[in-house]
Amino acid sequence: MGSFKGSLCLFFLFSALFISTTARAKGERKERWVHWDRANGQKRWVDRARDPAQALRLLLTYLEQAPTGRRLLAKAHKKARRLGKTLTDFVEGGKRSLTDITLVRHFHPKDWNRFEPRVRFQVRIDRELTMLEAALDLAHELTHFIEREVFNPYSLKFSARQFMAHTIEGKGGEVEAYIAECMVLDELAGSKEAIQAKCPKIRLPNGRYSPSKAAQLFYRVGQSYDTVKAALGFLGVSEKSVPLISPRHPAFISSAHEAPYPLAALSEYVSIMEKACRNDRRRLGLMEKKMREGPNPGEENLAEDLRRFKRSYFLRCSKADLFQLRDILGDRVVKGRALVYTAFRL
Ligand SMILES: [Zn+2]
Repeated sequence: MGSFKGSLCLFFLFSALFISTTARAKGERKERWVHWDRANGQKRWVDRARDPAQALRLLLTYLEQAPTGRRLLAKAHKKARRLGKTLTDFVEGGKRSLTDITLVRHFHPKDWNRFEPRVRFQVRIDRELTMLEAALDLAHELTHFIEREVFNPYSLKFSARQFMAHTIEGKGGEVEAYIAECMVLDELAGSKEAIQAKCPKIRLPNGRYSPSKAAQLFYRVGQSYDTVKAALGFLGVSEKSVPLISPRHPAFISSAHEAPYPLAALSEYVSIMEKACRNDRRRLGLMEKKMREGPNPGEENLAEDLRRFKRSYFLRCSKADLFQLRDILGDRVVKGRALVYTAFRL
């Protein structure tokens, strides 16, 4: 898959009462591995119906034929309802398959500690795919949509090691999404076709799929081995705590950074932190301006809030650290998609 060339967007969310900041995690796609369906002259899934809405309904109906697809869809419908919408509001065709997760924080202008976090989701399925390929991608992306934990880049606990592990092995992460695809492929196309694809590498003799074997595939980084080791070393992550990192040829490449997943995750981490910290610098600047101008009634705690926020900012956003990490990772951070979009307005 080619690299993503989408334009960077800034989301300016504004309301009379709240200041908004937005953090956004983008999805990814791994290499395509079901070629035979297209070779058989199958149409694109979007060409199966007169309009996009109907094509999407057909795709959902097709995925429903697989028991795993049915289970995923039931959970996805439930989540969509919980978010006050229907599933079709969250899924659409796109240039590639991905799941967008956007964290929005609405700050109260008079109380810097008060904010309302909201999460928005968007799933896109590559329009160029055949119905079967699209169903596999939908199973993959719905796994992210349903289960993926929403990270908080403003927390002291948010670390590169945690983010990498979470991206690959976490709930709703790549391993789970890959296994969901394999199960749907078995159920929709039969195991003969699955054997022609890559799923057998993670298949156990009892027919189940092994999360640990899948994780091994995702941690294969090939020529990026030294880069990943240097980045982890810089971050103070011991090699022992990431035992699966391997110099074997990568099984999967994340299209977000055109890199194996561990390297892509580290690059994402830098992008996220750079943007979260930029956002925090603006927040800090606004708080300092308020202090100089004199706090308004109801802002008596501003000095203490500012002291506390500064401490947290310097602990999380040591500029030199991020610059050095960016150096180690090379131009991938620049080439990759920006993952956190921030906006800050009064
Ligand atoms: Zn994924």
